[in-house]
Amino acid sequence: MDCAMKTPRYTALAGSLPATVPFVGPETQERAAGRPFSARLGANENMFGPSPQAIAAMAAAAQDVWMYGDPEVHNLRAALAQHHATTPENIVVGEGIDGLLGYLVRLVVGPGDAVVTSDGAYPTFNFHVTGFGGTLHKVPYHGDFEDPAALLARAHAVGAKLIYLANPDNPMGSQLDATVIEDMIAHLPQGCLLILDEAYIDLAPDGSAPNIAPDDPRVIRFRTFSKGYGLAGLRVGYGIAAPDLVQAFNKVRNHFGVGRIAQAGAIAALHDQAWLASVKAKVIAARQSFAGVAQENGLQALPSATNFICMDCGRDGDFARRVLQELGSRGVFVRMPAIAPMDRCLRVSLGDEAALAIFAAALPAALNAARG
Ligand SMILES: *Cc1c(COP(=O)(O)O)cnc(C)c1O
Repeated sequence: MDCAMKTPRYTALAGSLPATVPFVGPETQERAAGRPFSARLGANENMFGPSPQAIAAMAAAAQDVWMYGDPEVHNLRAALAQHHATTPENIVVGEGIDGLLGYLVRLVVGPGDAVVTSDGAYPTFNFHVTGFGGTLHKVPYHGDFEDPAALLARAHAVGAKLIYLANPDNPMGSQLDATVIEDMIAHLPQGCLLILDEAYIDLAPDGSAPNIAPDDPRVIRFRTFSKGYGLAGLRVGYGIAAPDLVQAFNKVRNHFGVGRIAQAGAIAALHDQAWLASVKAKVIAARQSFAGVAQENGLQALPSATNFICMDCGRDGDFARRVLQELGSRGVFVRMPAIAPMDRCLRVSLGDEAALAIFAAALPAALNAARG
């Protein structure tokens, strides 16, 4: 035995991966700064919070948390099936969309397999693709929108197994028409699965979701309790897909990944659609008030179908990064798109009146400091 051999003996793939940290969270920044942020507007969390009924259900479930949750997530899948007028066999529940993306990529992507996404789109997906050895092909945004025609063309050219598209989009907050998505599905290459990430659909204009048969084998659409339902810390998301694909997740998923409290909270949140509607109304109002603050400061608020707004700072990425830095040093946590030319913008999550006031107070000074 070679005593110099290092342990653990990583796979060639893991050994080749860069030592990246996918997200530097606000908590990390707070520890570094030695104080908490006063306005947490960077992670698209829903400050209006979850349904009180969900909180009560989670508190009650806490009494029983010595038991594992149901590994088949039966009751939540049944409730979701009813909500979407489909069957539980069309619903897979997991540890947020992020967790489900990991399982899906693990099921479909092996070393060298081609995957297509947009340059600057949701980075967690890319992280999973790289982690399973896939080859990422990125197409540019078209203006402030993801570009279905370019995604399709690239997928055809490289023989992609997966295309990733978020609609409404993160980080830009833009939304493509339902008909554009439906047309995209009609033109997918043979054997290419569309991942339609609808994390923000609960907050988008009514009737803007595309019409897709749950049994359509060409698409999996992902939804989450993290955004509209205000349960980001709970970690519950779901996919709507053909039964064969839903079944395949059982080969690789963590069977107790969705905990007992999480299942109870999600069921109660789903049943309280009145709360979701009230949150959506607050988000729509906040789009107006936050856009107003942007405008007062000479920034352009881009149209948003989500609970965040991109604010165009009118200059390049270096300037926007300075503004972001200056906001951070004034206790305001925001993020921004990573790729030019979208990185001319700040991405500001929509908060309550108190957060709005803190943001409105900090922004003029941050802009001044950034202008130097
Ligand atoms: C926030 C977000 C997610 C994360 O969803 P979870 O269910 O919390 O994992 C997924 N996709 C997009 C585009 C998001 O913005």
